[in-house]
Amino acid sequence: MKRERLFTEKINVGGVLIGGGSPISVQTMCNTHTADVIATLDQCLKMAEAGADIIRVTVPGPKEVDAVRIIHDKLREEGIRTPLVADIHFSAKTAIAVAPYVEKVRINPGNFHKDHIQAKALFGQFLDVCKENGTAIRIGLNHGSLGDYITNLYGNTPEAMAMAAMEWVGMCREKDFRNVVVSLKASNTIVMVEAYRLLAAKMKESGTIFPMHLGVTEAGNGDAGRIKSCVGISALLSEGIGDTLRVSLTEDPVNEIPVGRYLADRYNGNLRSGLKNINITGRRAVAYYECADKDRLLLDFSCDFGKRLLDRELDEVELHSGFGEEYDAYLVDELMQASRRRFYRPEYVACPGCGRTLYNLQDAFEQVKSRTSHLKGMVIAVMGCIVNGPGELADADWGYIGEGNHLVTIYKKNVPVLRHVPDAEAVDRLLELIEAQQG
Ligand code: SF4
Repeated sequence: MKRERLFTEKINVGGVLIGGGSPISVQTMCNTHTADVIATLDQCLKMAEAGADIIRVTVPGPKEVDAVRIIHDKLREEGIRTPLVADIHFSAKTAIAVAPYVEKVRINPGNFHKDHIQAKALFGQFLDVCKENGTAIRIGLNHGSLGDYITNLYGNTPEAMAMAAMEWVGMCREKDFRNVVVSLKASNTIVMVEAYRLLAAKMKESGTIFPMHLGVTEAGNGDAGRIKSCVGISALLSEGIGDTLRVSLTEDPVNEIPVGRYLADRYNGNLRSGLKNINITGRRAVAYYECADKDRLLLDFSCDFGKRLLDRELDEVELHSGFGEEYDAYLVDELMQASRRRFYRPEYVACPGCGRTLYNLQDAFEQVKSRTSHLKGMVIAVMGCIVNGPGELADADWGYIGEGNHLVTIYKKNVPVLRHVPDAEAVDRLLELIEAQQG
């Protein structure tokens, strides 16, 4: 499907063009500890080989800056030109220190300082350094990590996300800094789609549309993670919003690339869905597919129907794929859940993990899923770090966050209720708390 593109500024991230009619690019992020140069370099090489257009690494503090510089140099020595992005949370000092050594820095400027005026001053200094070094930036705001300044004005809403981004975008315009990408990720597909639509409209009104990086954050893993990502990202790409993307999965990050590549290829106009026939009566559709395999069916079906369910153009879909009635019914259930139209199991929120993760997130997530599968409709989050995880629990009823040293903190909403629980007991304690609440 060829989309009508929203015409944005075109930026250059180390030779990869984003926006202004350039092909949609695919990003991913290392989950290694960045200070472990060998492991991170090895993962970057695997990602580049798998087709990542842009690779991100976390930079928790100034001591990782040197590691990033070495990783960057070694990649170039290996002949890998894939641009490197530094992911920064909270520390303006780290953002400024790393900017000369990477092609792009991802920041949430609202977190640079508790005081909003100070945060703006630090953002200004950061832009000066990026300008001097030709470094691009991503203003990356997530639902759940907005500052008090903005939530006091607009609540924790898609509008708050868009308004927060617009303030930083405005500062970039004032300083004539145009090497900017913006993202507004959320785990809830309705919130995510609404936030980007509002942002696109507001940037259009302002006269400068910066390219947008799309993603459903904390999408989880397996089929559910892929379907949720496709629903949110394809809803926007199909209406011309979005220039680069990351599918975040709580798996080996190399697995993110084929899903991202599918989305990019589809909305770059290079592949067609296996949807062969569709009958629509009122707001109910019956769809017939011919796909080579189940993986492809899952992607085609999610992109063909996710937006229509999200936007309530349709209320029900019946699928006929040739892979059996049971599988068809399962995919319909998963798509209804990802589109937030019907919940047939708990809703899981899990980050992909990154260099800040100090425990085996993937195993913990599987364990939590297997023990809580009966809690239909409940939102359970499993997050990779105690630094950023708590802020991202906005949508969750319960949260499970590994602290490191085999200890876990359990959250009710975003309030810690049990700290330092040994990981071997943590799921039992979580279930006891949930049962106690249910009476
Ligand atoms: S919440 Fe997850 S992805 Fe985000 S910084 Fe922490 S470990 Fe990394």
